[in-house]
Amino acid sequence: MSSSRGGVDVVTEALAELHGRYGALSEGRVADYIPQLAFADRDCFGLALMSMDGHGYRAGRCGVSFTLQSLTKPFVLALVLAELGADEVRRSVGAEPSGEAYNAISLDAVTGRPANPMINAGAIAVTALVPATGPGERFARILECLGRFAGRALYVDEDVYRSEVATGDRNRALAYLMRGTGVLRGDPGESVDTYFRQCAVRATVTDLAVMGATLANGGINPVTRERVVPEPVAVQVLSVMAMCGMYDAAGSWMLNVGLPAKSGVSGGLVAVSPDRFGIAVHSPPLDAVGNPVRGVAALRELSERFGLHLMRNAAPGAPTVPLSTTTNGGRIALIVAQGRLDFTAAERVLFALEQRRAGAPGAIVLALERVSGMDSSAKAMLERALTLLMEAGHDVTVVGDLPFRTHGTWKRSTDRAQALTAAERALPAVQDRHRDPDGNR
Ligand code: GLN
Repeated sequence: MSSSRGGVDVVTEALAELHGRYGALSEGRVADYIPQLAFADRDCFGLALMSMDGHGYRAGRCGVSFTLQSLTKPFVLALVLAELGADEVRRSVGAEPSGEAYNAISLDAVTGRPANPMINAGAIAVTALVPATGPGERFARILECLGRFAGRALYVDEDVYRSEVATGDRNRALAYLMRGTGVLRGDPGESVDTYFRQCAVRATVTDLAVMGATLANGGINPVTRERVVPEPVAVQVLSVMAMCGMYDAAGSWMLNVGLPAKSGVSGGLVAVSPDRFGIAVHSPPLDAVGNPVRGVAALRELSERFGLHLMRNAAPGAPTVPLSTTTNGGRIALIVAQGRLDFTAAERVLFALEQRRAGAPGAIVLALERVSGMDSSAKAMLERALTLLMEAGHDVTVVGDLPFRTHGTWKRSTDRAQALTAAERALPAVQDRHRDPDGNR
């Protein structure tokens, strides 16, 4: 992690500052309903951030491992969504915020389904869905998947597991109720046992940041570069986290912090800034709804300070179109684009194209050699616009080597000057075609 480089880096400094300030918060209670959890050190406090480029930062105690508990829920949901698809999963569990406690006995009166996969009932149902020939294989798959999210093999804390087995009657009751309503197809005892094991998987706050960053990065672990789940699955999981990850405080969390997140009773909290980073905090004392006091406070400030609230979703900062001009008496349009193209950036490019293209068919040079990437919406928009311009009779050249899906029938060039010279040479032919659309002379 880069914090070990020495010297001052601003991100580490910000984390260290949050660590210093919120370390002084003394409120909250360490969970003890699973007796082993009560042994946690209430002063342990660490923050870790992992960027999509695999840059790691941390402050406080980040090497201490703790059981992930409910923090496993989004990642096991990802596994099941990747294996079975959203429709199949939806048959067993909803995707609506319950606004209730994590261990609420809340099953829909009509469907019998738990409200969402982030409360215990929903998570038990999701765990039972992991395809396997038996409970041993099922848990092995879960453990393996959690390890791929973290980028290293994880293991189970047998003491915490046994402690929850000994006291987990409420979860057992939930599993039996769900078998009663028909949403849990497997054996309730086995399902809940696998869930207890999953909750007892240990990881550090650094691991948890990598797990969050993998979701931020569309399912690719930014450290190992391995694709763990398909991108649409990562998006679905983040949506569920945004709505339901913070239990009955999900509303105020979204309002104040505005990031998909998940908390667990051991004091872990992971939040995801999509396309940016994963951040994790560990500090055992919990507030009244079961969220970690210091984690919530620190991430609220971090989100405000760095403008991370999702509803701000800033458009690309740098100008997308640094040059938009015409030559040859307005008959050749040159549009230069740069940076990463998303919907907004593509809209800017298309607006410039529309403004600069000649009323009658002429030549268009779209210079994309300074574009660093395009998301699928931008790609589709540009492809469609280029096709329409060609259909309207324009001579279209794209400069740069970009991964278009079709590569259409437009001309391609690697050199802007050459493309402009060629466009100039093509002009008379374009004009001829325009005069006589059938090409007859
Ligand atoms: N294992 C815990 C339970 O089921 C997980 C709950 C949590 O982290 N909120 O009670």
